[in-house]
Order: sequence, then C-alpha cells, then structure tokens
Amino acid sequence: MSGHKSVAPENRTVIGLTFGNSNSSIAYTVDDKAEVIANEDGDRQIPTILSYVDGEEYYGQQAKAFLIRNPDNTVAYFRDFLGKDFEHIDPTHNHASAHPKDVDGTVSFTIKDKAEEDAEPSTLSVSEVATRYLRRLIGSASDYLGKKVTSAVITVPTNFNDKQKAALLAAANAADLEVLQLISEPIAAALAYDARPEAQVEDKIVVVAELGGTRSDVAVIASRQGMYTVLATAHDYEFNGVALDKILMDHFAKEFLKRNPSAKDPRENARGLAKLKFESEATKRALSIGANASFSVESLSDGIDFASTINRLRYETLSRTVFEGINRLVDSVIKKAGLDVLDVDEVILSGGTAHTPRIATNFSNIFPQTTRILAPSTNPYAINPSELGARGAALQANLIQDYEADDIDQSTHAAVTTVAHITNAIGVVSLNAAGEEIFVPVVPAETAVPAKRTVHVAAPKDGGDVLVKFVEGNTHIKVTKPEPKPEESKAAKVEDADNSDDESDFSDEEEEEEKREKVWKIGNTLAEAAIRGVKKGGKVEVTVQVNADLSVILTTREVGAQGGVRGQLSA
Ligand code: ATP
Repeated sequence: MSGHKSVAPENRTVIGLTFGNSNSSIAYTVDDKAEVIANEDGDRQIPTILSYVDGEEYYGQQAKAFLIRNPDNTVAYFRDFLGKDFEHIDPTHNHASAHPKDVDGTVSFTIKDKAEEDAEPSTLSVSEVATRYLRRLIGSASDYLGKKVTSAVITVPTNFNDKQKAALLAAANAADLEVLQLISEPIAAALAYDARPEAQVEDKIVVVAELGGTRSDVAVIASRQGMYTVLATAHDYEFNGVALDKILMDHFAKEFLKRNPSAKDPRENARGLAKLKFESEATKRALSIGANASFSVESLSDGIDFASTINRLRYETLSRTVFEGINRLVDSVIKKAGLDVLDVDEVILSGGTAHTPRIATNFSNIFPQTTRILAPSTNPYAINPSELGARGAALQANLIQDYEADDIDQSTHAAVTTVAHITNAIGVVSLNAAGEEIFVPVVPAETAVPAKRTVHVAAPKDGGDVLVKFVEGNTHIKVTKPEPKPEESKAAKVEDADNSDDESDFSDEEEEEEKREKVWKIGNTLAEAAIRGVKKGGKVEVTVQVNADLSVILTTREVGAQGGVRGQLSA
C-alpha cells in the first residue's frame, strides 16, 4: 500500500469499517473490545446511499427514505462498481434510483447536487460517490469519538480483485482516510468471534456465510492456532436479501390487487414500487423477530391505502427457493474445499440476511449436531450478524495501529489471505485397544505453514524398541445404512408430511437417516524411525515441523531421555 496516504502511528485514530452495497457500519475498540458506533440518526447499520435534495447532501437512512420521493438524485447499490468498467457491471439493483451510465468506460451517475434551480446536473464517477459517502461515515465516526478519525481497516469480499481494491483505497484516501489494511469479510467475522474473552483458540474448520442484500458470499476457513487460511469461497448474486424483499413485494401487490380489482398494479409505477419495497423490507425484518408482521402503506396505488399482515410460516413457504439456494451455496463451497459437513466445527452467519431464523434452522439440519451454528436464532451467545464485519475490522485495526504503514503490509498480509497449507494431515500410526492400526494426527490438514506440533505417544506396556511410522492421514466419511423400517411407520410418516408445509427442507432425508461419521484413513508413509530400549511405561515424543516450502522435519525421542531420531523430507 506504499504510495498511499499514510499517517504516523502516534497520530492515528483508527476504526473498523464495512462498506457494503446495501449497508455500512463503523466500529472502534475500547480496552481491546469492539464497539459499534451509531451515527447521528442512531443507526448502526447505515444504508450505503447518498441523496441530494436542493443541494443538501443526505446519507444513510435519510437518503434511503428519499428513494421514494427523489429517486433520480439518490445513488444506491454502488460499492460493487468500484474498480469496474461500465461494460462489466450489473445495474439490476439501480433501476429504482440514479442509473449508472457509461462515461468513457467509467461508471458514473448524473445527479442534481446543487441548490440552484437552473444549475446543470453533475456527473460523478462511482469513485467520487464512494469518496463522498465515506467522508460522511468518517464524519459520523469522528463526531462520535470526539476526535478526527484518520485510519481504518476496511472489509472486502473475498473475490474483490486488485483493481477493485485499488479503487477502494483511492476512494478512501480521497476522503482523507488512511487504509491500514483491507481484510476479507469472512476473516473479519471469524476474528470478531475469536476475540471474545470466552473464546478458546482451537484448531477448527469454520464456514462463514455472509448473507447481505445483493450478494451471498460463503467461505470455508481453517483456523489453526489463530492463523486463518481461506480454503474455498463461493459467491452468489441471486439468493439474497433483495430477493426476499421482492417476494414480499409481489405477495402484497397481489393481495392489494385482489382487494382492489380495478386499481392499477403498484409495481407498475415508480413510487408505488418504491413504497412496496421500503415497507416489504421492514416487514421482512420484523419477521426475523416475531411470528407475525404487519405491512402498511399510505396511497399505494391510485391513492388507495393498504394494510395487511403476514405470518412467518407463510413468508418462509414463499421464500423457499431463496433459502434452498443459500443451502446449496453452502453445500457447494464445502465440497469445493474437499470437505464434508462433518468436518465443519463452526458456522458463522454474518450480514443482515443472516438474522432470518429459517436460514439458521436449515443450517442446523444440514450440519451435524456437533457443529456450532452461530446465529441469533440458534445460539444465545451469537454476535449480531450485522455487526460482525465492523467489529472484526476494528479489532484488526487496534492490533496493527502501532505499525508503520509499510510494515503492516509485510507483517500481516499472510495472516489474512490464502497462504500455503498442507492438504493432508501428518501423524503417526498407533495401535488401538483392539490391536488395530490407527492414525494419530499430529498436524491437522489445512494447517498454514510453517507449523510445528508435538504429541506424546505411549510406548508398548513393557517398553522395548518402538517403531514410529510417520504417515499422511485423511478422513473419509463412513456411511452406515439404517435398518429397514417396518411398513406401518412408513404409512404414518406419509400422513404426517401431508399436513405440514412447515417441514424442514431436509426432513425427508432425515427420517431415514444414514449414520455418517468421520474416520481417519492411513495414507502414504512418510518415514519410519526406531527408538530403542524405551523403558517400561515410557512415552515417545513425536514432533512434526512443516516448513514454509512444505518440507517436513520429523523428530522422535523418548520422553525424559537423551538424544532422539531426526529426519528431513523434502517438499
Ligand atoms: P450487500 O453488499 O450484499 O448488498 P451489505 O453487506 O451491504 O449487503 P447487510 O447489512 O449485510 O448489507 O445486508 C443487508 C440485507 O440484510 C438487506 O437485504 C436487509 O433487508 C437485510 N436485513 C437486515 N436486517 C435484517 C433482519 N433483521 N432480518 C432479515 N433481513 C435483514
């Protein structure tokens, strides 16, 4: 990041920032704990929207309200356009606000941002829009903290390319903000959880499902002693919060037309459509908390007011396709990582749409009971999914704020991006009680290298010579078919399924559930080492060190004895 704006460490005031297509949030740390900042409107999720009325600039929730009365001078859903040529953007979400246009390939918006009636409209590049918006966020954060914010860690999706990152950096710098680091969204979410005082740093596989308004991004991460490695990612732009809004918009529009057969369809008029969208989103959010929610719009179409209610079950039935799309996305990324649901220790639900109880319940059905599903509706200790990114970014900012700008690049990049890692576990062969050979992992698979781990293996009861066999290990899923069920209970089940559309998406399979368990398979032998004359009841210490170039150093010795055997394998 050299060449970009940098501030001397002693002069910094740092924040963590998420800058989404739909919403942004700001956090800072006090006593190493992250806190989310509310802006002057009291919002912690601040709509990523900028609006101009009579030359006055509005942002956040106030700008969002202007989508109804002043859509042409309101810019929304623009973050993903940063660093992209016009021909490569998807303007789907901009149909009800200022339209992006092509100015020599640069994505731009033409809006009236001046007070004078006869002033020419301005054409602003997406970078300029981003800078103006970020300036407002920084202003709010500075007001809140009582001092000028100078620097930030900003989260970005895992598929943001270098051009997009460069454009974001430039937009932030132009808003007088030093970017300490860009960290990927799933890592920020994982950090927010792992930084909690009660969190135990353990080796684990974590799935982060980042469910926003316009995109759903899922990542599989290996967390090994506090180092994160991204193993696989998947992205989707169809099954998202906006799709859920649309379902409710259609539902209420149809109901309105049914009650008012001669009225015009509110979806065919810009203002009606904007009102439908605004209220549908509010109804959707209410359904994340309550079993019922109301919907009410004044003058929806032809001057007719409309009020209705919907219950959660109905909403969930209507939204099934979207929820199933999200399930498939999660499933696909786990496969892409070469893993199975049984390998996953934790699922973190992040982003606004992650509040949806049904999405979390579906995940509970997909993953085994041993997997922690971290969402408000399934876990009382879950952190607000809308705040995870900003919290993680603030924690990271707090951690690195004392470094010089150039050092940050070098010292922290590897920790938060994809780094070299071993694919198979490395361990030793031991005997179980039944005398069968079993695999004892020393370094788990997907560990970022370099890494060094040690385990103690009991020697045979009577001591003597011990042969230590170093092997690679990998897991496979052992499937045990259930006993066939008697006919009666099958008949009863069909009846059951008939009268409930509330059945879980996965319940059909669940009933006849096969037993699936993860078992180790002994793979290639890497080396063998003999330790002679181990004393009775003795133990052998086994150390595996994997170097950055993936070469391996294996060491064995008797615990408490001198010497030992050491061998090196090349990568
Ligand atoms: P993106 O970049 O994907 O557009 P974002 O990261 O900018 O999204 P988020 O705040 O994470 O934005 O997600 C916004 C979405 O979350 C919106 O569709 C919003 O309606 C939805 N959302 C926010 N709160 C809730 C809630 N309580 N229940 C259900 N959905 C919610």
